Amino acid sequence: MLSIDDILQQSRNAEPFAREQLVWMLELSPDSEASYRIMAEAREISRRLSGDRAEIHAQFAMNLNACPKNCEFCSFAAINKIFNTGIELSIEQAVENALLLERAGANAVYVMTTASFGLDAFLETGRSVREALRPETILIANTGDQTPANARRIQEAGFNGVYHALRLREGIDTGIPPQQRLDSMRAFKNAGLILGTCVEPIGPEHSNEEIADLILLTGSLEPAYSGAGRRISIPGTRLAQTFGMISELRLAQIVAITRLGLPRNVIGNCTHEPCVIGAAAGANLLWAEIGANPRDTMARTEDGRGCTVNACRNIFSEAGCGILEGPSRFFSSRKK
Ligand code: SF4
Repeated sequence: MLSIDDILQQSRNAEPFAREQLVWMLELSPDSEASYRIMAEAREISRRLSGDRAEIHAQFAMNLNACPKNCEFCSFAAINKIFNTGIELSIEQAVENALLLERAGANAVYVMTTASFGLDAFLETGRSVREALRPETILIANTGDQTPANARRIQEAGFNGVYHALRLREGIDTGIPPQQRLDSMRAFKNAGLILGTCVEPIGPEHSNEEIADLILLTGSLEPAYSGAGRRISIPGTRLAQTFGMISELRLAQIVAITRLGLPRNVIGNCTHEPCVIGAAAGANLLWAEIGANPRDTMARTEDGRGCTVNACRNIFSEAGCGILEGPSRFFSSRKK
């Protein structure tokens, strides 16, 4: 018989949690006293591991195009018919965006593309962005699945790491075989790229067992960070109409349980989208975004859902969290 006191004691002993223990925590009502105790515990772990220096990572999109991979939760998915016209940044625009995010104080700068964006063009842009940024600025790629040879090219172009995730119901709600995502993550790591990942995109239909499995998987990948992101409803889509969204409180509960389920050498734990309760419940990583965004129906997410670096700073401040100045420690502290 599990009890919250035993769970918290196990966490304080830094003993790993089994799948059934994570499921037990996920089954608690998000507004129960036990859940709030888990959130307090997660917050303390995150604060301690990062020295109370939470991070803000900022992403810009290289392109906006109907994507044939058809992940049903994504506004770029061709089947969702959200965007009729494509957009592709010039190298100069990409450099300008990267510098904007660096100047705003982001601890890492991410370049995102849809899955069908050409690798050669991505690498050319990546090299120019790398050259323009300060040498110590952490540069991260968020792009499609890659072979080992292409992963090495990404590393050689000057990227420090990648964001990549095995999404919930990969291969069911997406057109990508789960093994392909796992193979890419292995290729990235073997190429010397540090991995950031997440348990996402969580909807009300996902069972506690599915979420627990993904928490454990992300922890086993030796990432710079994991965390939890909820699915944002794209209006008119099957997932939005059938299932809707989980609340920020439920997301905060899952953020906290993810923190407890991760090994202590994973320092970062994100919440997506950014929210005060997520930061108060153990998220020490928030996201700023400009340009296209797979959770937005606006072509410029800064006019829609996207948060600025300053907005993320305010969220951490409202949650009573200290903020890192300078390059991401989540990435730089993770050995290649
Ligand atoms: S999540 Fe990525 S791979 Fe999936 S549809 Fe959107 S852009 Fe394409």
